[in-house]
Amino acid sequence: MAYRKLQADALFDGSTLHHNKVLVTTANGTIIDVVEAGASGTHNDDVEHHSGWLCPGFVNAHCHTELSHMQGSIPAGTGMVPFLQQVVLGRAAPQQAIQHSMALAVAAMYKNGIQAVGDVCNTNNGFAIKAASPLHFHHFFEVSGFVPATAHQRLQPLLQLQQQWAQQHGGPSSVVPHAPYSVSQPLLQLLAQLGPAISTIHHMESAAEMAFMAHKTGPMLGLFEALGIPLHFFEPLEQGVAGWLKPYFESTPQLVLVHNCHTSEEHVEFLQALNQQSVQGASAGARFYWCLCPNANLYIGNPLPNVPLLAASGLPICVGTDSLASNQQLCILFELQTLQAQYAHLSTTQLLQWATLTGAMALGLQQQLGSFAPGKKPGILLLQGLNALTLQQGRVQRLA
Ligand SMILES: [Zn+2]
Repeated sequence: MAYRKLQADALFDGSTLHHNKVLVTTANGTIIDVVEAGASGTHNDDVEHHSGWLCPGFVNAHCHTELSHMQGSIPAGTGMVPFLQQVVLGRAAPQQAIQHSMALAVAAMYKNGIQAVGDVCNTNNGFAIKAASPLHFHHFFEVSGFVPATAHQRLQPLLQLQQQWAQQHGGPSSVVPHAPYSVSQPLLQLLAQLGPAISTIHHMESAAEMAFMAHKTGPMLGLFEALGIPLHFFEPLEQGVAGWLKPYFESTPQLVLVHNCHTSEEHVEFLQALNQQSVQGASAGARFYWCLCPNANLYIGNPLPNVPLLAASGLPICVGTDSLASNQQLCILFELQTLQAQYAHLSTTQLLQWATLTGAMALGLQQQLGSFAPGKKPGILLLQGLNALTLQQGRVQRLA
Protein backbone atom coordinates (compact mmCIF):
# COMPACT_ATOMS: atom_id res chain seq x y z
CA MET A 1 0.00 0.00 0.00
CA ALA A 2 1.22 3.47 -0.81
CA TYR A 3 1.53 5.77 2.17
CA ARG A 4 1.91 9.50 2.60
CA LYS A 5 3.90 10.80 5.54
CA LEU A 6 3.55 14.48 6.39
CA GLN A 7 5.36 16.58 8.94
CA ALA A 8 5.14 20.30 9.63
CA ASP A 9 6.19 22.73 12.38
CA ALA A 10 3.17 21.57 14.38
CA LEU A 11 0.20 19.26 14.03
CA PHE A 12 -3.27 20.16 15.27
CA ASP A 13 -5.22 16.91 15.42
CA GLY A 14 -8.73 18.35 15.91
CA SER A 15 -8.35 19.03 19.63
CA THR A 16 -4.66 19.23 20.60
CA LEU A 17 -1.51 20.81 19.19
CA HIS A 18 1.49 18.49 18.84
CA HIS A 19 5.11 18.93 17.84
CA ASN A 20 7.52 16.40 16.33
CA LYS A 21 4.72 14.24 15.00
CA VAL A 22 4.30 12.67 11.61
CA LEU A 23 0.89 12.19 10.04
CA VAL A 24 0.66 8.89 8.17
CA THR A 25 -2.13 8.46 5.64
CA THR A 26 -3.05 6.29 2.70
CA ALA A 27 -2.45 7.71 -0.77
CA ASN A 28 -6.06 8.96 -0.84
CA GLY A 29 -5.85 10.74 2.53
CA THR A 30 -7.38 8.22 4.94
CA ILE A 31 -5.65 8.58 8.30
CA ILE A 32 -3.47 5.63 9.36
CA ASP A 33 -1.87 7.16 12.44
CA VAL A 34 -0.07 10.07 14.06
CA VAL A 35 3.38 8.90 15.18
CA GLU A 36 6.51 10.34 16.78
CA ALA A 37 8.93 11.80 14.26
CA GLY A 38 11.83 9.40 13.90
CA ALA A 39 9.73 6.38 14.84
CA SER A 40 10.35 3.32 12.72
CA GLY A 41 8.76 3.70 9.33
CA THR A 42 9.14 7.47 9.28
CA HIS A 43 12.62 7.74 7.81
CA ASN A 44 13.37 11.26 6.77
CA ASP A 45 13.68 10.52 3.10
CA ASP A 46 10.04 9.62 2.62
CA VAL A 47 8.47 12.31 4.85
CA GLU A 48 6.98 15.39 3.19
CA HIS A 49 8.14 18.42 5.20
CA HIS A 50 6.00 21.55 5.31
CA SER A 51 6.30 24.93 6.94
CA GLY A 52 3.18 25.67 9.03
CA TRP A 53 0.60 23.60 10.91
CA LEU A 54 -1.17 20.47 9.73
CA CYS A 55 -4.89 20.58 10.50
CA PRO A 56 -7.96 18.49 9.60
CA GLY A 57 -10.39 19.98 7.07
CA PHE A 58 -12.85 22.60 8.35
CA VAL A 59 -16.57 22.16 8.90
CA ASN A 60 -18.88 24.96 7.80
CA ALA A 61 -21.84 24.26 10.05
CA HIS A 62 -24.15 26.88 8.53
CA CYS A 63 -24.38 28.00 4.92
CA HIS A 64 -26.97 28.66 2.24
CA THR A 65 -25.13 27.84 -0.99
CA GLU A 66 -28.31 28.47 -2.99
CA LEU A 67 -28.05 32.20 -2.18
CA SER A 68 -24.57 32.48 -3.70
CA HIS A 69 -25.84 34.49 -6.68
CA MET A 70 -26.86 37.25 -4.23
CA GLN A 71 -23.23 38.09 -3.43
CA GLY A 72 -22.95 41.88 -3.19
CA SER A 73 -26.60 42.46 -4.05
CA ILE A 74 -27.62 43.59 -0.56
CA PRO A 75 -25.51 46.40 0.88
CA ALA A 76 -23.79 45.81 4.22
CA GLY A 77 -25.30 47.32 7.36
CA THR A 78 -28.98 47.44 6.39
CA GLY A 79 -30.09 45.81 9.62
CA MET A 80 -32.04 42.57 9.96
CA VAL A 81 -35.46 43.41 8.59
CA PRO A 82 -34.38 45.13 5.34
CA PHE A 83 -31.91 42.28 4.85
CA LEU A 84 -34.60 39.60 5.24
CA GLN A 85 -36.95 41.52 3.00
CA GLN A 86 -34.37 41.73 0.24
CA VAL A 87 -33.54 38.03 0.50
CA VAL A 88 -37.22 37.05 0.33
CA LEU A 89 -38.15 39.45 -2.46
CA GLY A 90 -34.85 39.56 -4.36
CA ARG A 91 -33.62 35.97 -4.51
CA ALA A 92 -35.29 35.00 -7.80
CA ALA A 93 -32.79 34.76 -10.65
CA PRO A 94 -32.28 32.80 -13.87
CA GLN A 95 -31.50 29.16 -13.09
CA GLN A 96 -28.25 29.37 -15.02
CA ALA A 97 -26.98 32.24 -12.85
CA ILE A 98 -27.96 30.40 -9.68
CA GLN A 99 -26.22 27.20 -10.76
CA HIS A 100 -23.12 29.00 -11.94
CA SER A 101 -22.62 30.90 -8.68
CA MET A 102 -23.32 27.77 -6.62
CA ALA A 103 -20.67 25.82 -8.51
CA LEU A 104 -18.15 28.62 -7.88
CA ALA A 105 -19.10 28.80 -4.18
CA VAL A 106 -18.77 25.06 -3.65
CA ALA A 107 -15.37 25.02 -5.38
CA ALA A 108 -14.21 28.02 -3.33
CA MET A 109 -15.24 26.35 -0.07
CA TYR A 110 -13.21 23.27 -0.94
CA LYS A 111 -10.21 25.40 -1.86
CA ASN A 112 -10.61 27.30 1.45
CA GLY A 113 -10.18 24.04 3.36
CA ILE A 114 -13.82 23.26 4.06
CA GLN A 115 -14.62 19.54 4.13
CA ALA A 116 -18.27 19.50 5.19
CA VAL A 117 -21.18 21.91 5.02
CA GLY A 118 -24.45 22.18 6.90
CA ASP A 119 -26.35 23.59 3.95
CA VAL A 120 -29.73 25.22 4.42
CA CYS A 121 -31.99 24.65 1.40
CA ASN A 122 -35.36 26.03 0.35
CA THR A 123 -35.11 24.60 -3.18
CA ASN A 124 -33.46 21.78 -5.12
CA ASN A 125 -31.08 24.21 -6.83
CA GLY A 126 -27.60 22.80 -7.19
CA PHE A 127 -28.37 19.27 -5.96
CA ALA A 128 -26.25 17.78 -8.75
CA ILE A 129 -23.39 20.25 -8.17
CA LYS A 130 -23.23 19.37 -4.50
CA ALA A 131 -23.54 15.64 -5.08
CA ALA A 132 -20.59 15.77 -7.50
CA SER A 133 -18.34 17.81 -5.19
CA PRO A 134 -15.80 16.28 -2.79
CA LEU A 135 -17.49 18.12 0.10
CA HIS A 136 -19.79 16.33 2.55
CA PHE A 137 -23.19 17.98 2.79
CA HIS A 138 -25.80 17.72 5.50
CA HIS A 139 -28.89 19.22 3.92
CA PHE A 140 -31.14 21.21 6.19
CA PHE A 141 -34.44 21.57 4.31
CA GLU A 142 -35.76 24.75 5.85
CA VAL A 143 -39.45 25.43 6.37
CA SER A 144 -41.14 28.63 7.42
CA GLY A 145 -44.77 29.51 8.04
CA PHE A 146 -45.99 31.72 10.85
CA VAL A 147 -49.72 31.38 10.14
CA PRO A 148 -50.80 28.39 12.25
CA ALA A 149 -53.41 27.11 9.79
CA THR A 150 -50.81 26.69 7.02
CA ALA A 151 -48.50 24.32 8.91
CA HIS A 152 -49.21 21.15 6.89
CA GLN A 153 -49.26 22.99 3.61
CA ARG A 154 -45.92 24.69 4.33
CA LEU A 155 -44.22 21.47 5.43
CA GLN A 156 -45.20 19.25 2.47
CA PRO A 157 -42.94 20.79 -0.22
CA LEU A 158 -39.89 20.48 2.06
CA LEU A 159 -40.63 16.83 2.78
CA GLN A 160 -40.85 16.29 -0.98
CA LEU A 161 -37.53 18.05 -1.52
CA GLN A 162 -35.94 15.87 1.14
CA GLN A 163 -37.30 12.78 -0.59
CA GLN A 164 -36.05 14.00 -3.94
CA TRP A 165 -32.56 14.52 -2.55
CA ALA A 166 -32.61 11.06 -0.96
CA GLN A 167 -33.75 9.36 -4.16
CA GLN A 168 -31.43 11.23 -6.52
CA HIS A 169 -28.28 11.49 -4.46
CA GLY A 170 -28.65 10.36 -0.86
CA GLY A 171 -26.71 11.63 2.14
CA PRO A 172 -27.78 13.00 5.51
CA SER A 173 -30.59 15.53 5.70
CA SER A 174 -33.24 16.97 8.02
CA VAL A 175 -36.29 19.21 7.71
CA VAL A 176 -35.79 22.16 10.04
CA PRO A 177 -37.46 25.40 11.17
CA HIS A 178 -36.17 28.72 9.81
CA ALA A 179 -36.40 31.00 12.86
CA PRO A 180 -38.65 31.61 15.87
CA TYR A 181 -40.49 34.48 14.15
CA SER A 182 -41.25 32.42 11.05
CA VAL A 183 -42.57 29.13 12.47
CA SER A 184 -45.95 28.65 14.13
CA GLN A 185 -46.49 26.35 17.11
CA PRO A 186 -48.35 23.75 14.97
CA LEU A 187 -45.48 23.76 12.47
CA LEU A 188 -42.93 23.28 15.27
CA GLN A 189 -45.02 20.34 16.53
CA LEU A 190 -45.07 18.75 13.09
CA LEU A 191 -41.30 19.18 12.81
CA ALA A 192 -40.75 17.63 16.23
CA GLN A 193 -42.86 14.63 15.17
CA LEU A 194 -40.61 13.91 12.18
CA GLY A 195 -38.42 11.90 14.52
CA PRO A 196 -34.84 12.09 15.67
CA ALA A 197 -32.57 14.00 13.34
CA ILE A 198 -30.04 16.78 13.69
CA SER A 199 -31.87 20.06 13.50
CA THR A 200 -30.88 23.69 13.27
CA ILE A 201 -32.54 27.09 13.59
CA HIS A 202 -31.59 30.76 13.23
CA HIS A 203 -31.66 31.81 16.86
CA MET A 204 -31.61 35.16 18.68
CA GLU A 205 -29.96 36.86 15.73
CA SER A 206 -31.31 40.40 15.90
CA ALA A 207 -32.82 42.95 18.27
CA ALA A 208 -35.83 42.95 15.94
CA GLU A 209 -36.38 39.21 16.53
CA MET A 210 -36.10 39.64 20.31
CA ALA A 211 -38.56 42.56 20.44
CA PHE A 212 -41.07 40.85 18.18
CA MET A 213 -41.04 37.52 20.02
CA ALA A 214 -41.21 39.07 23.50
CA HIS A 215 -43.50 42.06 22.91
CA LYS A 216 -44.85 41.94 19.35
CA THR A 217 -43.15 45.26 18.70
CA GLY A 218 -40.31 46.64 16.58
CA PRO A 219 -39.32 46.58 12.91
CA MET A 220 -40.30 42.92 12.39
CA LEU A 221 -43.93 44.13 12.27
CA GLY A 222 -43.05 45.98 9.08
CA LEU A 223 -41.70 42.80 7.48
CA PHE A 224 -44.95 40.94 8.10
CA GLU A 225 -46.88 43.88 6.70
CA ALA A 226 -44.67 44.02 3.59
CA LEU A 227 -45.11 40.30 3.04
CA GLY A 228 -48.87 40.52 3.62
CA ILE A 229 -48.85 38.08 6.54
CA PRO A 230 -51.54 38.76 9.16
CA LEU A 231 -50.56 38.65 12.82
CA HIS A 232 -53.86 38.76 14.71
CA PHE A 233 -53.31 35.20 15.97
CA PHE A 234 -49.90 35.89 17.50
CA GLU A 235 -49.69 36.38 21.25
CA PRO A 236 -46.12 36.93 22.38
CA LEU A 237 -44.95 34.82 25.29
CA GLU A 238 -43.35 36.33 28.34
CA GLN A 239 -40.15 34.40 27.71
CA GLY A 240 -39.97 35.52 24.09
CA VAL A 241 -37.83 33.28 21.89
CA ALA A 242 -37.11 30.86 24.75
CA GLY A 243 -40.82 30.42 25.46
CA TRP A 244 -41.75 30.02 21.79
CA LEU A 245 -39.12 27.35 21.15
CA LYS A 246 -39.41 25.57 24.52
CA PRO A 247 -41.44 22.59 23.23
CA TYR A 248 -39.05 22.22 20.28
CA PHE A 249 -35.99 22.52 22.53
CA GLU A 250 -37.45 19.81 24.78
CA SER A 251 -38.17 17.31 22.01
CA THR A 252 -35.21 17.73 19.63
CA PRO A 253 -32.25 15.42 20.29
CA GLN A 254 -29.62 17.61 18.62
CA LEU A 255 -30.08 21.25 17.68
CA VAL A 256 -27.53 23.61 16.15
CA LEU A 257 -28.43 27.15 17.24
CA VAL A 258 -27.20 29.64 14.69
CA HIS A 259 -26.06 33.23 15.48
CA ASN A 260 -26.98 33.70 19.19
CA CYS A 261 -26.16 37.43 19.00
CA HIS A 262 -28.66 38.22 21.76
CA THR A 263 -28.30 35.10 23.89
CA SER A 264 -28.27 36.04 27.58
CA GLU A 265 -26.84 34.35 30.64
CA GLU A 266 -30.36 33.38 31.69
CA HIS A 267 -31.00 31.66 28.34
CA VAL A 268 -27.66 29.85 28.55
CA GLU A 269 -28.69 28.46 31.94
CA PHE A 270 -32.07 27.39 30.55
CA LEU A 271 -30.39 25.42 27.76
CA GLN A 272 -27.75 23.98 30.09
CA ALA A 273 -30.56 22.54 32.22
CA LEU A 274 -32.36 21.13 29.16
CA ASN A 275 -29.08 19.66 27.95
CA GLN A 276 -29.05 17.44 31.05
CA GLN A 277 -32.46 15.96 30.28
CA SER A 278 -32.54 12.85 28.20
CA VAL A 279 -34.65 12.83 25.09
CA GLN A 280 -35.51 10.10 22.63
CA GLY A 281 -32.94 9.76 19.87
CA ALA A 282 -30.20 11.74 21.62
CA SER A 283 -26.59 10.67 21.11
CA ALA A 284 -23.97 10.70 23.82
CA GLY A 285 -22.83 14.21 22.91
CA ALA A 286 -24.36 17.58 23.65
CA ARG A 287 -27.91 18.31 22.57
CA PHE A 288 -27.30 21.98 21.83
CA TYR A 289 -24.52 23.52 19.77
CA TRP A 290 -23.79 27.22 19.40
CA CYS A 291 -23.00 28.03 15.79
CA LEU A 292 -21.20 31.33 15.27
CA CYS A 293 -21.31 33.22 11.94
CA PRO A 294 -19.57 36.47 12.94
CA ASN A 295 -18.94 37.91 9.49
CA ALA A 296 -22.63 37.63 8.61
CA ASN A 297 -23.53 39.34 11.90
CA LEU A 298 -21.24 42.25 11.09
CA TYR A 299 -22.41 42.42 7.47
CA ILE A 300 -26.09 42.63 8.39
CA GLY A 301 -25.46 44.98 11.31
CA ASN A 302 -26.14 42.65 14.23
CA PRO A 303 -23.89 42.55 17.30
CA LEU A 304 -21.42 39.70 17.65
CA PRO A 305 -22.55 37.11 20.19
CA ASN A 306 -21.16 37.09 23.72
CA VAL A 307 -18.59 34.42 22.83
CA PRO A 308 -16.97 34.21 26.29
CA LEU A 309 -20.40 33.50 27.79
CA LEU A 310 -21.16 30.81 25.19
CA ALA A 311 -17.68 29.29 25.50
CA ALA A 312 -18.02 29.07 29.28
CA SER A 313 -21.43 27.38 29.01
CA GLY A 314 -19.97 23.93 28.41
CA LEU A 315 -22.19 23.57 25.33
CA PRO A 316 -19.99 23.09 22.27
CA ILE A 317 -19.31 25.78 19.67
CA CYS A 318 -19.09 25.39 15.91
CA VAL A 319 -18.63 27.91 13.12
CA GLY A 320 -20.46 28.80 9.91
CA THR A 321 -20.15 31.27 7.08
CA ASP A 322 -23.85 31.86 6.42
CA SER A 323 -24.46 32.78 2.77
CA LEU A 324 -22.76 35.03 0.25
CA ALA A 325 -25.79 37.33 0.59
CA SER A 326 -24.27 38.39 3.93
CA ASN A 327 -20.59 37.52 3.57
CA GLN A 328 -17.70 38.41 1.29
CA GLN A 329 -16.44 34.85 1.14
CA LEU A 330 -17.20 31.32 2.34
CA CYS A 331 -14.06 30.79 4.40
CA ILE A 332 -13.96 29.38 7.92
CA LEU A 333 -10.48 30.80 8.61
CA PHE A 334 -11.91 34.27 7.86
CA GLU A 335 -14.62 33.64 10.49
CA LEU A 336 -12.01 32.57 13.07
CA GLN A 337 -9.99 35.71 12.35
CA THR A 338 -13.04 37.87 12.98
CA LEU A 339 -13.76 36.08 16.27
CA GLN A 340 -10.19 36.46 17.48
CA ALA A 341 -10.02 40.10 16.37
CA GLN A 342 -12.98 40.78 18.66
CA TYR A 343 -12.02 38.38 21.47
CA ALA A 344 -8.23 38.35 21.56
CA HIS A 345 -8.05 35.85 24.42
CA LEU A 346 -9.47 33.07 22.22
CA SER A 347 -6.51 30.85 21.44
CA THR A 348 -5.78 29.62 17.95
CA THR A 349 -6.16 25.99 19.03
CA GLN A 350 -9.53 26.63 20.69
CA LEU A 351 -10.83 28.29 17.54
CA LEU A 352 -9.47 25.51 15.34
CA GLN A 353 -11.23 22.91 17.47
CA TRP A 354 -14.55 24.72 16.95
CA ALA A 355 -13.87 24.72 13.22
CA THR A 356 -12.93 21.03 12.98
CA LEU A 357 -13.92 18.39 15.54
CA THR A 358 -16.81 20.25 17.16
CA GLY A 359 -18.20 21.21 13.77
CA ALA A 360 -18.09 17.57 12.68
CA MET A 361 -19.94 16.57 15.87
CA ALA A 362 -22.56 19.26 15.31
CA LEU A 363 -23.35 17.73 11.91
CA GLY A 364 -23.05 14.12 13.12
CA LEU A 365 -20.00 13.55 10.91
CA GLN A 366 -17.47 12.84 13.67
CA GLN A 367 -16.97 9.24 12.55
CA GLN A 368 -15.54 10.43 9.23
CA LEU A 369 -14.30 13.99 9.71
CA GLY A 370 -12.97 16.61 12.11
CA SER A 371 -9.81 14.99 13.45
CA PHE A 372 -6.76 12.92 12.53
CA ALA A 373 -8.12 9.74 14.17
CA PRO A 374 -7.26 6.50 12.31
CA GLY A 375 -9.82 5.54 9.68
CA LYS A 376 -11.17 9.04 9.11
CA LYS A 377 -10.69 10.92 5.86
CA PRO A 378 -11.00 14.46 7.20
CA GLY A 379 -9.03 16.39 4.56
CA ILE A 380 -5.56 17.67 5.39
CA LEU A 381 -4.83 21.38 5.55
CA LEU A 382 -1.59 23.28 5.84
CA LEU A 383 -2.13 26.47 7.84
CA GLN A 384 0.62 29.02 7.46
CA GLY A 385 1.33 32.34 9.13
CA LEU A 386 -0.26 31.55 12.49
CA ASN A 387 0.82 30.70 16.02
CA ALA A 388 -0.85 29.72 19.29
CA LEU A 389 -1.71 33.34 20.09
CA THR A 390 -2.94 34.63 16.76
CA LEU A 391 -4.21 33.43 13.43
CA GLN A 392 -4.74 36.90 11.98
CA GLN A 393 -2.06 36.36 9.31
CA GLY A 394 -3.16 32.78 8.68
CA ARG A 395 -3.48 31.29 5.22
CA VAL A 396 -4.87 27.92 4.28
CA GLN A 397 -3.64 25.48 1.70
CA ARG A 398 -5.14 22.05 1.04
CA LEU A 399 -2.76 19.06 1.05
CA ALA A 400 -5.45 16.36 0.73
ZN1 LIG B 1 -28.53 31.53 7.73
